[in-house]
Amino acid sequence: MAGILIFSDKTNLALELLTAANSISSSSADIKAVTINNDEQVQALSEAGANVYRINAADLIMADVGAVAAALGQAAGELGSDIILLSSNRRGKEIAGRLAQVVGAGCLTDVNSLETDDGKITCKRNALAGATVANQYIKADKQVIAIVPKSFAPAEGGSGSINDLTVEVKPSALKLLEVKTKAGESVDIEAAEVIVAVGQGLNSKDDLVMVEELAKLLGGEVACSKPVATDKKWLSEDRVIGLSGKKCKPQLAIILGVSGQVQFTVGIRDAKTIVSINTDDNATMNSLSDYVLVTDLHEAVKAMNSAL
Ligand SMILES: Cc1cc2nc3c(=O)[nH]c(=O)nc-3n(C[C@H](O)[C@H](O)[C@H](O)COP(=O)(O)OP(=O)(O)OC[C@H]3O[C@@H](n4cnc5c(N)ncnc54)[C@H](O)[C@@H]3O)c2cc1C
Repeated sequence: MAGILIFSDKTNLALELLTAANSISSSSADIKAVTINNDEQVQALSEAGANVYRINAADLIMADVGAVAAALGQAAGELGSDIILLSSNRRGKEIAGRLAQVVGAGCLTDVNSLETDDGKITCKRNALAGATVANQYIKADKQVIAIVPKSFAPAEGGSGSINDLTVEVKPSALKLLEVKTKAGESVDIEAAEVIVAVGQGLNSKDDLVMVEELAKLLGGEVACSKPVATDKKWLSEDRVIGLSGKKCKPQLAIILGVSGQVQFTVGIRDAKTIVSINTDDNATMNSLSDYVLVTDLHEAVKAMNSAL
């Protein structure tokens, strides 16, 4: 197996990539983790057993994705890594395409799992709008693979090494003026362990109050189907699950009044336990669920809230 380089600017995702790399490599010496201006991540990765190569370059800013891709390309060349694993979040996917071009690699994003056979890496990805799973591999020697967050458990326990790596950073076309917290609602439903998702079965925006109460009692987040956000505008688009929204892998997903079109289910079907509450016994969502309650969601939510 050729050398593997891993990178994500998010520490939890970088730790997941370390597990992914370990799953396809027989030698941890072949795996190298690159960090950019992130001392906390250097520590976390080395404590999880990674050989860390830290790039500390004040003029390399994460927002300049082209510059980050160029730096990672140099790192891969320097460290002899032909396989580069990134996270398939928004930034990771953009870096993936650019980096593949920089190093002349084949590229796959939205990869859910990896398998190796005789050095060939097979990537599993949802295909046909999530209706099926495709096994795909990259024919080129150099490969950039972006892995869906939460596909692998974060690596832990081990003793790695910390090394410095210098890359040439070209003057950026971007100038960083200030870093601000994103205005408006900021929610990360992809990180939630419990999700309570509402669909068009919800009668009115006012009924969201009891749904929010249920999510709070369960220590989770409220999410929704696309029309609830884009047509009804009851919730922000940050909370949409599915093809054009977020891909979530919570431990528990309670799905209220969602019919279960494939564009929705592709974003939630990897949840550990799915409960569907729907008045329609034949709703597609029910066939994908571990538990089904055929009843009015409003009554069910009230009952759960008072029981909890
Ligand atoms: C290109 C494209 C991309 C798309 N991307 C997404 C996406 O990312 N995410 C997404 O969600 N959709 C997406 N869609 C839309 C998707 O196809 C569906 O239209 C949408 O998911 C349906 O939302 P819903 O299940 O909430 O509504 P509906 O399909 O209208 O279902 C409502 C459900 O509520 C049930 N119900 C009604 N009243 C009650 C009650 N009182 N109690 C309990 N149950 C009740 C009904 O039986 C029904 O099953 C996309 C579509 C396209 C074409």
